[in-house]
Amino acid sequence: MTNIIGHNGYYSCFYGHIKGIHIRKPRKRQYPYTSTINYRTVNSFYINSREAQLNNKNIFGHLGISILNEVLDISLPHGIVIDYAHVSLLRHFRDVTRTVVASLAPSVREKIDYSLRTQAFPHFFHRKMRGIEDFSFIKANELKNLLLYGFIPHFIHYLTIDQLCFLSLLIIGIRLLHADNVFKPITSTTANNLLCRYDADHHIYFFHQANLVLHLHQHFQDIYKCHDPLSSVNTFAQEDFIGYISKNKNGTTSFHNLLSYYYNIDVLLTNLNEKKMCAVDGPLDLFSLAHNDPLFDELFDYHQQMCNCNNYNMCIKTYRRCRVLKQIFHSLQYIKRKNTISYFVQYLFRSNQTEFGTIKIFFQHHGQTFALIQHFQVINAFSDYLKESRYYDLLKQSIDNFYFVLKKTNINRIVSVEKIQKHLIIFEDALGKSHVLTTPVSSMTEHD
Ligand SMILES: [Zn+2]
Ligand SMILES: [Zn+2]
Repeated sequence: MTNIIGHNGYYSCFYGHIKGIHIRKPRKRQYPYTSTINYRTVNSFYINSREAQLNNKNIFGHLGISILNEVLDISLPHGIVIDYAHVSLLRHFRDVTRTVVASLAPSVREKIDYSLRTQAFPHFFHRKMRGIEDFSFIKANELKNLLLYGFIPHFIHYLTIDQLCFLSLLIIGIRLLHADNVFKPITSTTANNLLCRYDADHHIYFFHQANLVLHLHQHFQDIYKCHDPLSSVNTFAQEDFIGYISKNKNGTTSFHNLLSYYYNIDVLLTNLNEKKMCAVDGPLDLFSLAHNDPLFDELFDYHQQMCNCNNYNMCIKTYRRCRVLKQIFHSLQYIKRKNTISYFVQYLFRSNQTEFGTIKIFFQHHGQTFALIQHFQVINAFSDYLKESRYYDLLKQSIDNFYFVLKKTNINRIVSVEKIQKHLIIFEDALGKSHVLTTPVSSMTEHD
């Protein structure tokens, strides 16, 4: 559609005039890292594509005028957005993981495969992580969970510290651009520093994988600046939609009829939802706590201290779940949670310090909802484990914003539910038995 030569040609980058090099064995086009990029401009894009069209010639990779030229209201090349689901997840990261996996001993592969497949996630993760033994039908979402969350904790014991940190440059670079604006306003610069170093050092760790998709990571910084985080510009939802429609033909094989058919159903459902199921924040699943439950004494004491009345049963109501800022959180009282971990949370305490813990129960007192949280203490920075690496200084600040090393304590805290911020993913065996490694869920709005 861009009418630019494909990734096997020279000058195949949409954004810059970078001439790839040809490697005879194994016959691949490579785009090694360069720190300076000669960008295509709106003007050069137009002139070169026009010349290519008129003379039927390849001009800096242009094969003619793009059909998008007339359609988009943002001029080319700025209207071209890289889809990280395809470029990073399904292409680059999948290839890299395959190469890493192939280098490991079969017994190690088996161990990692098992630990990935049994990793627990919060309840709203519909796809989790695939094992590494079979990547042929892996979905972009499964790769996303591996990249954003699971790779570092599950591979930490089986790679050298430099190998792990090198791959973390990609992982943390993408994660910075994916959602949370952690280092406002320098998020994209920080990410770009990591991704450029990743690109520059790639040849040390991998042979002949400096292809166009790796090179495109250098342009994510601009995508982020112009089009917002990667979680808001990707094709997950469209792919799902197209897949669904092509599988569920109804009364016609013509796609424009099918699209309007499903669109009508969608409008109907949305209207129904708005009328009937307007979900409000607050506690869910009222139940009464048995008097012999250890938590009963704790809540009873709390009531005695905080309330003037003498009627605990009338005054304190206990709940299994709670909706906070439209997100459902579980407590350990929620029996139907199966192996999901939506009770492990990041919350704010006292002077809005970020803390971590498991929600034991929700309760309401005088119209206000609280969570009783078992506190997990931050023991040390995750980057402390990476000190030997040549990438330590570059990674330290960003990786410590995403991964936390915790130890369980016997301290219970009573926290107003508005202070609960995020769901966490917990890696129990990553750092030995006494510590757990955790990372918060990145974006709550992305299609799953
Ligand atoms: Zn480029
Ligand atoms: Zn009372």
